[in-house]
Amino acid sequence: MARKPLIAGNWKMNLNHLEAINLVQKLAFSLTDRDYDAVDVAVLPPFTDLRSVQTLVDGDRLRIVYGAQDVSRHDSGAYTGEISGAMLAKLGCAFTLVGHSERRQYHAEDEALCNAKVKAAYRHSLTPILCVGEGLPIRQEGRHVEHTLAQLAGALEGVPAEQARSIVVAYEPVWAIGTGEVATPADAQEVCGAIRTRLADLYGGDVAGEVRVLYGGSVKSDNIAGIMAQPDIDGALVGGASLDQGEFVKICRFGE
Ligand code: PEP
Repeated sequence: MARKPLIAGNWKMNLNHLEAINLVQKLAFSLTDRDYDAVDVAVLPPFTDLRSVQTLVDGDRLRIVYGAQDVSRHDSGAYTGEISGAMLAKLGCAFTLVGHSERRQYHAEDEALCNAKVKAAYRHSLTPILCVGEGLPIRQEGRHVEHTLAQLAGALEGVPAEQARSIVVAYEPVWAIGTGEVATPADAQEVCGAIRTRLADLYGGDVAGEVRVLYGGSVKSDNIAGIMAQPDIDGALVGGASLDQGEFVKICRFGE
């Protein structure tokens, strides 16, 4: 089965709920059925925007989908400041990021926590977009594939094949995030191909063939085409450029 590409915009901690409505309205105005037939388009706004995005998407029957940037490992209870998978599901989220490098870096998220978050997402029918990728020193030592595959295996520990077949894996080399330093298509393919091979080792070729593997790191309209031409890359996780409606739409069209 051919994998439908996914372009997901990670807004990070940008845009209040009014600005979110404005951007989603502009995207809805620009994106056509032809675009949605070719790619799945998702936005990942801050938690405080989700209810507004839900109202807009439901009210206008938009084909854009949305998700969260993080999910609690817990389902409810005394966890001040956390947001559960159940809450996100109730808001109509399709996706949640897990293990974005900014959460790994600033919130000390490790493999065990990412694994618990992947499982929490599945408990509430959310599709995890699991972020993996190496920092610059690890790449300079030539250990980027090994490091990324260890993150992948750690986050998938105990996750059954029926769930794993729907996961989205985003390979995001940390040195390319928000730096303007994009990995070459060949560099991105090297690791995305290794991710698919490891998924095949863990779950078999059928599952590996279904999983969407994205590239993320300074994706723009002028570099997306080369990335999308790679056999094991099924889309992009886009940070900064997803805040610009015109640029994001061009990325959804692979630069055209
Ligand atoms: C990201 O936040 O996941 C990301 C890839 O950011 P940027 O596109 O800005 O590098």
